[in-house]
Amino acid sequence: MTDPDCVFCKIIAGRISSFTVYEDDHTFAFLDIAPFEKGHVLVVPKYHTAFLTDLPFDLKHLFINAEILFACDIKFCHDNKLL
Ligand SMILES: [Zn+2]
Repeated sequence: MTDPDCVFCKIIAGRISSFTVYEDDHTFAFLDIAPFEKGHVLVVPKYHTAFLTDLPFDLKHLFINAEILFACDIKFCHDNKLL
């Protein structure tokens, strides 16, 4: 499910350029264009919803797992000064 007016759906579809750092069947992660810190990444589900709580249960589970694994990778890079 996508929304043609949603900026995140446009980024996922490649209609707005981004620096992709992770992608799987259900999750897309890219660098923020106005980062608060080095390595500031936005992790979004590929299924469009206004709120994460509206994701279908099976997609919510996959998205949260990917988000946690990705956050662990970022923390490892940050802690080891790889960013
Ligand atoms: Zn969207």
